[in-house]
Amino acid sequence: MLSDDPPAAESNPCGTVAAYQRHRRRGEAACGLCAEANRQKSRARRADPELRVEEVARNLARTRALWRLANEYPERFRALSTDELLKISEVADAT
Ligand SMILES: [Zn+2]
Repeated sequence: MLSDDPPAAESNPCGTVAAYQRHRRRGEAACGLCAEANRQKSRARRADPELRVEEVARNLARTRALWRLANEYPERFRALSTDELLKISEVADAT
């Protein structure tokens, strides 16, 4: 586990969308249970336009919040971005 992952991330067991996203953040291939959970979520989203609108709104809010954080804490944001880029490079080098 990466030491600066939020503790709550570990409480989501495989077979959930949250665990699928955890796999992706770590640069791992999702396990079968998580891939299926994500497929089901995608199917539900396509079947319900209101869910799609909610998701777009949530993503936009998240992006805006990240921009605000980056503006309020530019040095910390740069350091975290560099750190995450290094982690991604390490994962890419290991594969
Ligand atoms: Zn999994």
